Amino acid sequence: MLFDISRLRTGVDDVNRSYAPEAFADLTDDMTVSGPTDVVGTVSRDGRTAVVLKARVTSAFETRCSRCLESYAVPVDAEVETRFVPPAEFATVTAATAAKDGALLKTGAARPDEVESDVKDHDFGLAEYHDEAIDLGAVVREQLYLALPMKPLCTEACKGLCPVCGVNWNRETCECQQEWVDPRMAVLAEWTSRNEKTKG
Ligand SMILES: [Zn+2]
Ligand SMILES: [Zn+2]
Repeated sequence: MLFDISRLRTGVDDVNRSYAPEAFADLTDDMTVSGPTDVVGTVSRDGRTAVVLKARVTSAFETRCSRCLESYAVPVDAEVETRFVPPAEFATVTAATAAKDGALLKTGAARPDEVESDVKDHDFGLAEYHDEAIDLGAVVREQLYLALPMKPLCTEACKGLCPVCGVNWNRETCECQQEWVDPRMAVLAEWTSRNEKTKG
């Protein structure tokens, strides 16, 4: 999934790539890419060494709902803007950023976002390129992982599974549904009814 930048001297190159799901077969177990993944946009030189990718990444993957455990599709549609620099420059920039953050922590002077940045294009994603090629696969992977929810839900209203018999409450109802009460509430209910009896 490499994009050759060796002949990109000035100006802009179009990026228009489409990848089959198999290209992302090595993602974590909780996500399976289920459709074509497209990267459409431009790559342009920025200065002598840097290259900027501006692209739209569209894809979709299946993940498992944390309530009902069914698979469902998560669409991915992201605008990315990533600045690629050679490894030496990448090391310098990340070291400078780390040093700056460290200094700020020590003095407690100002929040990082209030400080004039000496690192150019601070808000860009930053990555390194090797052998005159940028890795579009890494850009896609990052977007896929960003789209994976912390607590995946097939729908906001997912009813989940019955904790007693295990049926999927989105599709079925069960007798235990009404009867199941929080054990702590059951103790309270019993106590209340006993009290009521003594009163009566
Ligand atoms: Zn669900
Ligand atoms: Zn049940």
